[in-house]
Amino acid sequence: MTTPTADIGLIGLAVMGENLVLNMESHGFTVAVFNRTTAKVDDFVNGRGKGKKLVGCHSVEDLVKSLKSPRKIMIMVKAGAPVDQVIDELVPLLDPGDILIDGGNTHYPDSTRRTRDLKAKGLQFIGTGVSGGEEGALKGPSIMPGGNPDAWPHLKPIFQAIAAKVDDGTPCCDWVGPEGAGHYVKMVHNGIEYGDMQLICEAYQMQRTLLGMDAPAMHDVFARWNKGPLDSYLIEITRDILAYNDPDSGKPMVDLILDTAGQKGTGKWTVTSALDLGVPLTLIAEAVFGRCLSAQKDERKAASKVLKGPSAKFTGDAKALIDDIEMALYGSKIISYAQGYALMNAMAKEEGWEINNGGVALMWRGGCIIRSAFLGKIKEAFDRDPKLTNLMLDPYFTGELEKAQAGWRRVCAAAITHGVPIPAMTSALSYFDGYRTENLPANLLQAQRDFFGAHTYERIDKPRGQFFHTNWTGRG
Ligand code: NAP
Repeated sequence: MTTPTADIGLIGLAVMGENLVLNMESHGFTVAVFNRTTAKVDDFVNGRGKGKKLVGCHSVEDLVKSLKSPRKIMIMVKAGAPVDQVIDELVPLLDPGDILIDGGNTHYPDSTRRTRDLKAKGLQFIGTGVSGGEEGALKGPSIMPGGNPDAWPHLKPIFQAIAAKVDDGTPCCDWVGPEGAGHYVKMVHNGIEYGDMQLICEAYQMQRTLLGMDAPAMHDVFARWNKGPLDSYLIEITRDILAYNDPDSGKPMVDLILDTAGQKGTGKWTVTSALDLGVPLTLIAEAVFGRCLSAQKDERKAASKVLKGPSAKFTGDAKALIDDIEMALYGSKIISYAQGYALMNAMAKEEGWEINNGGVALMWRGGCIIRSAFLGKIKEAFDRDPKLTNLMLDPYFTGELEKAQAGWRRVCAAAITHGVPIPAMTSALSYFDGYRTENLPANLLQAQRDFFGAHTYERIDKPRGQFFHTNWTGRG
């Protein structure tokens, strides 16, 4: 029998798997690789992997035999049933204490189930979010591992070596929490990504439709914004997109792209979870619905000829409005992260997970699509108070919201006056106003519920927990 030489195995040599293998190998790890279509193993080992410390395997049995103990096998196949199929194939070949890792875009309940099922079989499971796309996988992704905590010390040296690093060298990877916590945090990350993208699109729409700006002019604005508090990967790529011209027509490429957005479902999962937990996640919900509305292109085209809005042109100070749009984007972004963190903490409470809020901000600080300077500020906020109820209540963010709100309100007013849809920015402002309102109209709502359904209500002049009913009509 040959001596096992590989530090880790990886199954699934599509773009993500291949790039993660090359990343691990470049950090000194020997990687055993397998793919269902085995021709891909040979193509990879003799192609991109030529001359590297790889062990090409044509069966899962060979892969298992090539690994040092405890075996660590990362699964990078299509999310869903294929992951279970691969796990089922592996389980009979493994020894107690061996570790399986799923790095795909898995829905978190699957990771909770797999952690429990494998633990019952004496095996350890890690379900980890991996963000940053193919380039991140190769050069340094953000990695969000959860699952069986006993497995983490074995994976930590590998994952932290291959992860993106922030400026001081800290890796964008740390333990998130038990069971499905890693994939949950990755799911919320994706939801926040939806929100950030929607907000940028609304800022673009305001400049384009209200101010009549063209792509090069907007490129200059985004370039400027990228040097301020909005400094982030998504603002940076938006700047570059706006400067890119179609080689055939010479026109800005963005002007030639049909306005119907796709989605793969992680935004919807995030919003569904928020609804299940009763956490207001209005901004991400608007971002998901914004994509849904965009997809109704034919209906919108027909309606645009029938449903008329205001016709008055914007006559205010364009330069001042651009500065206000920056503030509207910034204020709304704070709301989005405040809501996203509130959701993660509600889920952590529900499941009994300990989530390291500051650590999560650090994991998102580099390597992933939502990476930004802003996340450093979130990390600092949770360092000041790890149990912060809502990000808006951290003194730094309270001050930033104070600075942003006048301009943000002017943008929402201008959009509503002129009929420009900016659902994420306006709903974020409503959430901000709702959260800071002591007396909401739910007293009336409770009266209505009690009127038609005898649902009872509590009174402000009696202790909480006592419920009352009124016979509103006087009828028996
Ligand atoms: P993918 O297209 O999602 O999946 C292709 C891989 O899955 C191939 O290796 C394929 O093997 C394998 N596979 C499919 N069904 C299988 C089964 N029943 N049994 C065994 N293997 C099976 O690949 P990807 O884009 O590299 O993504 C991998 C995972 O990472 C996915 O969960 C994805 O959502 C996630 N992810 C992707 C990105 C990205 O930017 N692409 C970013 C983050 C996360 P064959 O070659 O034999 O078909």
